[in-house]
Amino acid sequence: MKDAIVFLGIQGSGKGTQAGLLAEHKCFQHVNMGDLFRQEVSIGSAVGDAIEHVIERGDLVIDHIVFDMIDTTVHPDCKGIIFDGFPRTLNQAEHLVKHYNLIHVYYLELSEEEAILRIQGRLVCTNCGANYHTRHKPPKVDGICDICGTELSIRADDEPDAIAKRVKAFYQRTFVLKSFFEKRDAITSIPACKSVEEIHELILNDISKR
Ligand SMILES: [Zn+2]
Repeated sequence: MKDAIVFLGIQGSGKGTQAGLLAEHKCFQHVNMGDLFRQEVSIGSAVGDAIEHVIERGDLVIDHIVFDMIDTTVHPDCKGIIFDGFPRTLNQAEHLVKHYNLIHVYYLELSEEEAILRIQGRLVCTNCGANYHTRHKPPKVDGICDICGTELSIRADDEPDAIAKRVKAFYQRTFVLKSFFEKRDAITSIPACKSVEEIHELILNDISKR
């Protein structure tokens, strides 16, 4: 069984950044479920067509599609995996502990209000995929991609109704996942308001003891 480390946290908590940093440090493969889903949608694969509206509504992709996508993405010779955006349900958490050697789960904790503020204002370039934020990372010219000059758009799953639904659903699901991993003594919560460097240091320090 491959080693796995999991990052839990709502969009905007910085879990993707932390997952990427730790993957680099450990030489593990970073499996970002949200990116995988969006990639399938953008290339218009059969899976992409099946999940497009599910994602737009802010709903969850069904388990067997998630498991298949992980199986085809994980390199057979990778040293270990950093999961980001997986698991999202209790069933997925059970699948995880059954098929992987779970080292630890890091939960980047953010209040519901702050989560909504952070998600609102995200912009994406549909041409080159660059990400921006109206407050935290504005483009040089309002509404235009710095890299390729394309007009920026709000991601389909970042429309206000989808955000509110996703945030609410996230906290309900995360409560269940947290207690699942707490029972296994396998989760550490970290306040997401700390800086990227501080959080990375905390995680490195913690993981070295596991
Ligand atoms: Zn661009």
